[in-house]
Amino acid sequence: MTVETHSFQAEVKQVLHLVIHSLYSNKDIFLRELVSNASDACDKLRFEAIKQPELLGEDGTLAIDIRFDPQARTVTIADNGIGMSREELAEHLGTIARSGTKKFLESLSDNDKANAQLIGQFGVGFYSAFIVADRVTVTSRRAGSDQAWTWASAGDGEYTIAPAEKAGRGTAIVLHLREGEDEYLNGWKLRSLVHKYSEHIDFPIRLPAEKADADEEKDEGASGGETLETVNEATALWTRPRNEISDDDYKAFYKHVSGDFGDPLVWTHNRVEGNQNFTSLLFVPARAPFDFMGGGRDERKGLKLYIKRVFIMDAAEQMLPPYLRFVRGVVDSDDLPLNVSRELLQSSRQVERIKGALTKRVLDLLEKLAREEAEKYAGFWKEFGATLKEGVADDPSSAERLMKLLRFPSTQSASADELVSLEQYVERMKPGQEAIYYLTADGWNAARNSPQLEALKARGIEVLLMHERIDEWMAGYLTRFADKPFRNVAKGELDLEKLGEADGADARARREEAAKAAEPVVEKIKAALGDRVKEVKVSTRLTDSASCLVLGEYDMALHMQRLLKAAGQ
Ligand code: ADP
Ligand code: MG
Repeated sequence: MTVETHSFQAEVKQVLHLVIHSLYSNKDIFLRELVSNASDACDKLRFEAIKQPELLGEDGTLAIDIRFDPQARTVTIADNGIGMSREELAEHLGTIARSGTKKFLESLSDNDKANAQLIGQFGVGFYSAFIVADRVTVTSRRAGSDQAWTWASAGDGEYTIAPAEKAGRGTAIVLHLREGEDEYLNGWKLRSLVHKYSEHIDFPIRLPAEKADADEEKDEGASGGETLETVNEATALWTRPRNEISDDDYKAFYKHVSGDFGDPLVWTHNRVEGNQNFTSLLFVPARAPFDFMGGGRDERKGLKLYIKRVFIMDAAEQMLPPYLRFVRGVVDSDDLPLNVSRELLQSSRQVERIKGALTKRVLDLLEKLAREEAEKYAGFWKEFGATLKEGVADDPSSAERLMKLLRFPSTQSASADELVSLEQYVERMKPGQEAIYYLTADGWNAARNSPQLEALKARGIEVLLMHERIDEWMAGYLTRFADKPFRNVAKGELDLEKLGEADGADARARREEAAKAAEPVVEKIKAALGDRVKEVKVSTRLTDSASCLVLGEYDMALHMQRLLKAAGQ
């Protein structure tokens, strides 16, 4: 028999190190992660068996078995799901393919506390086994294959793969516990963890039956002619009535579907009946995953599509508009055909309708949050506001609702985090003010200190300061809100007369006089600048600065022009 030794990918070594060192205080999570993987493996088999029923064979009851052996000091988690081939063992348990991983790992500090949060957002998964084990063996046989393989590692940089014997398909993971981790060699402890973290996994999780009689017998543990009993509820959470589900159940389920380590911010659970029947359970995470904005658009863990309780695929791309890609959860349809393909999903009118309904649900949820829990909403906005803004341009049918969800700092904000909604802005508009004034800039300080603001500030007019990257593009799609037009303060004439004078009643006369007096200067400036400018004007725009650049109504913003220039356009 040949045993091959391989080296972990560098990123895996780093993740292992971080997981072991920063998650020790959360070490119980290893069981949740391994059960979650076993459940995914059963889901995958059930899906493949739609087309190839022979994969199930005699062994049609999918289950997850947890055993422990006090003498050998091992805990074993076994499933009869899809299993892994030799190549899959090496790829799935020896490498991390997510884009941006390297950069993310480099950005982590040596501070364990801070890292625990971050590595949790990354998704800890299989490697969490090494928090409690100093040696892990994974014996697996892919459904449809006769050959089994054992992957083994001490988590120290290398792993081995060797041929193995295994009776049925699936995967058995053996944890050789570290010194001092004996608390897991206990049926009650393992049961309590299953109840806490995995109660609503859709497959039975079984443990050796506890013997009620003599204590010595109990100590024999799981060896011998064992009987296993199901410990969890074993029904898919989303199929249960809402009033029977506790917040803790929802939170635990979120961790299973998202891979996130923290609690979700909010969720919405609904059953729709009518000409489309489906159930949705949608979560908004409290934090963006590490590669969320890095172009990684990690939709892998987004939205799981089930059809009649059978997991079909991750289908966030088909079931949600891109600007809601932060949403996690499950959609279970009664009506779609089980043999649905990705292509079919893309062009299905039924899917289109579900997508519309899900979009509405998420917007309802966010509106409610904004209305009732402003602080939580502010947290959401910080993480995902920039993503939501894309919707203003991408989804005209929801733009009206999305605009109500937008938040910006304004000239009345003391810091970039002091935000105002458009509704609030309109409410406190000055008498006679007809437009919603905004300024776009590349950065908070550039926005706040812009000379373009002077005339409006002097008149006490609030201006929204749009200082994020996406704002310039989004603002192009803002036309009206509450019947008020949007006006970019850096473009065209501002029509400030109606809004009163900045400096007293006789200002108009004084201004005209000043303009006349300035004419020779204006001519000189014109001559000096030549055709680098369209026009030189005396303006009421400024109160403190001597001059500023103004764009024509249809010109591109200055920082956009700079961006394009930098890009060589
Ligand atoms: P994730 O579950 O987020 O993909 P994990 O680190 O938990 O990441 O697992 C890595 C991969 O290893 C899984 O995606 C899966 O392909 C494979 N895997 C882990 N456990 C099992 C199992 N019990 N059966 C089959 N494949 C598994
Ligand atoms: Mg996992």
